Amino acid sequence: MNSELEYLPVPAADLDRIRCNGHDDYGNRLLPQISGDGAPLRCCLRLSVAGEEISLIAHRPSPLGGAYAEVGPVFIHVGECPGYAGDGFPSDFLERHAVLRPYDEAGLMLDGVLVEPGTSEGELKRLFDDPAVALVHVRNVVAGCWNFSVRRRTA
Ligand SMILES: [Zn+2]
Repeated sequence: MNSELEYLPVPAADLDRIRCNGHDDYGNRLLPQISGDGAPLRCCLRLSVAGEEISLIAHRPSPLGGAYAEVGPVFIHVGECPGYAGDGFPSDFLERHAVLRPYDEAGLMLDGVLVEPGTSEGELKRLFDDPAVALVHVRNVVAGCWNFSVRRRTA
């Protein structure tokens, strides 16, 4: 039933614009750094391996707008990358603690759920049982940084 949900990285058009401009939409320069292991990459939805050229930029992950649509820091590849081609919950993020934040159509936050490693996917499906939920952010626990968004797949 994975195909019912869609897992969304930073949109390709946003990545193209940021890489072309050399800075993000908030004026922060795209400064390359060499990654260690385990930086969560929001372009490809996987963890980095040591030696990749990545950059920390600011991104506003909610297309819904509203007061909850905050801007936060995310790692991306500096150069072009394949993006997320997977179908289903990104496997590198399965065994992590996470916070799931569901939002309604207007972008208002409905709830917040702290999940244990290995339980994110099941908790997500449970959240989408509520028809009021339009979008869910999967975020890091301590800093709250956005990792990716999830929505129902439209036919
Ligand atoms: Zn990437």
